[in-house]
Amino acid sequence: MSADVNDLTVREPDPLEWDQYDDPTVGQRIPLPVKGVYTLIPTEAPKPGMTKADHYLQFELGPLVVQDPGQVWDQHEIRYTRVNAKRWPNKNASGLADYLRSHGYAGRPASNGEYEQAVVAMVNHPCRGLIDWEARCKQCGWRLKGMDKFPKDETGAYVTRVKCPTCSTTEKPVEAYANAVVKVFVGPTA
Ligand SMILES: [Zn+2]
Repeated sequence: MSADVNDLTVREPDPLEWDQYDDPTVGQRIPLPVKGVYTLIPTEAPKPGMTKADHYLQFELGPLVVQDPGQVWDQHEIRYTRVNAKRWPNKNASGLADYLRSHGYAGRPASNGEYEQAVVAMVNHPCRGLIDWEARCKQCGWRLKGMDKFPKDETGAYVTRVKCPTCSTTEKPVEAYANAVVKVFVGPTA
């Protein structure tokens, strides 16, 4: 048996401003930075590991926080960035050493232990990276790399979601969402 609200001494609901309603959000979503070179600060210790195929020392860097005061993407966090100690093909450089040198680090590490010590010391210190967008379809693994390949809205700004060309049907679009990724760590004076 349900109570009739007219029989109860129920108080009136609090008035709400429906035009400015505070919908719940899951965490704070800071917009993606547009493609470009940004100052980044790693805010947590890197997680050591190794590359799958050839077992080089690899680190998953703690969240890299974009520093761009006054822009909507200031403080955007980039996760899952990995760097390793394998030389780039045909280049006297590696992703891990690029990362260290991007901090202005001038050491000359020669062992895994020395690399580890150096990368741990970079936490909370700024470096610089070229950031771009990548999206991956969760259903089929299709990837779109590069902000300038994403669709634009009516104002000409790139939008961070894109229909998967394989999984989408006319009735049901399947969307992939862009993440900001570090394409390369650049030297402090580059
Ligand atoms: Zn797909």
